Amino acid sequence: QLVDIVKMCRDTIRSIATAFERKIQFETNIEEIEVTIDIEKINQVLYILLDNARKYSDGLIELTVENLPNHVKIDIRDHGEGISQADQEKIFDRFYRVDHGRSRETGGTGLGLAIAKEIVLAHGGSLTISSEEGKGSIFTIMIPN
Ligand code: ATP
Repeated sequence: QLVDIVKMCRDTIRSIATAFERKIQFETNIEEIEVTIDIEKINQVLYILLDNARKYSDGLIELTVENLPNHVKIDIRDHGEGISQADQEKIFDRFYRVDHGRSRETGGTGLGLAIAKEIVLAHGGSLTISSEEGKGSIFTIMIPN
């Protein structure tokens, strides 16, 4: 369906931030962007990425929406432990979990990112990561507009 993705992100952050007990900062370069998406599925992607940011970092979580010529770009940034180059290639695989202290503590199945990627690809978009160990991670969702 045709969805205002800026409003969707605002609503999702609002409903999640309280439950997470974390500040999620929202930024956008546009007031509204209508795109054709399955809102429940894309909300699931946002939830997976925000939940990971919560699990694998302590500080501020940032969500940015940008309208680009052919795509809407959504960045979810945390300032946590980050992910090594080698692991960045594997985290989208089913059941893969980086076996650091934090991953062991938080538990999980290692399916979240595989599901998120599948959903975004089904929308004709992409899900990528940029991360530096010790500095944090940025997950980027691109959806055709
Ligand atoms: P679940 O399927 O329950 O979400 P999970 O969090 O382990 O479990 P994924 O969401 O697929 O599974 O993530 C895979 C692995 O990638 C995680 O176990 C974690 O090691 C790493 N990871 C994911 N997001 C981040 C992040 N924001 N910062 C650091 N590591 C991350």
